[in-house]
Amino acid sequence: MSTKYRRVLLKLSGEAISGKENGIIDFDFLAQIADVITKCRDSGTQIAVMIGAGNIWRGRQGGSMNRSRADHMGMLATTINSLALQQALEDANVKAVTMTPVSMEEFADKYSARNAVKALENGNVVVLGCGSGLPFFSTDTAAVLRAAEIEADVVLMAKNIDGIYSADPKTDPSAYKIEEITYKEIIERNIRAYDLTATIFCMDNNIKTYAFGLKDPMNIYRAIMGENVGTETHN
Ligand code: UDP
Repeated sequence: MSTKYRRVLLKLSGEAISGKENGIIDFDFLAQIADVITKCRDSGTQIAVMIGAGNIWRGRQGGSMNRSRADHMGMLATTINSLALQQALEDANVKAVTMTPVSMEEFADKYSARNAVKALENGNVVVLGCGSGLPFFSTDTAAVLRAAEIEADVVLMAKNIDGIYSADPKTDPSAYKIEEITYKEIIERNIRAYDLTATIFCMDNNIKTYAFGLKDPMNIYRAIMGENVGTETHN
């Protein structure tokens, strides 16, 4: 069975990998994710991964702090998660490289779309740390930007909910899961799927996204095989 996509960008939220008890990272869960990513790569799909940092720090937690500085802390936190994933991938015997748009050459390679594509074509999983490298952005937005740059076929948005819903299912009992939706509808119906900057970027640049639940990491593999496990969004 062949995969649906040649190259994907997988976005993992920081919260999804957060430690169950005291730790900030659940290494057992990260190992499961690494195994599935390996399976995807072995089936012929090139994978770049961007991780958020909700398990450690988000810029908006900074209160009265200078917002740029609070976001710099957030971007550093994404790099902590990225290095943890790189280790988990290497432990699963897959070649992996972390790249950041901000220089930290002792820790990670410098990101450029060219370097990322070259590494992907050489069989590496590319882990993208530091988001876009710019404050005032989220990793959702950075993920869709990088997907455009590296010409990924889709952005796989792994979430703690199994797709996009018509309303928040936690508060609205009439909420239902949507199988397919356009960015225009997301905006018109005010559906909180991705942040608005990411949504508009996808619309302007014709980027396809696929949202699904990460509770079962095998869903990453199912998504790249084209199984119906979440919600596809397109123009
Ligand atoms: N961040 C940033 N620029 C980016 C991406 C991330 O400044 O391009 C910072 C921002 O402070 C953000 C934090 O990194 O709150 C972690 O990212 P995010 O909140 O998207 O993580 P997630 O919700 O996916 O865990």
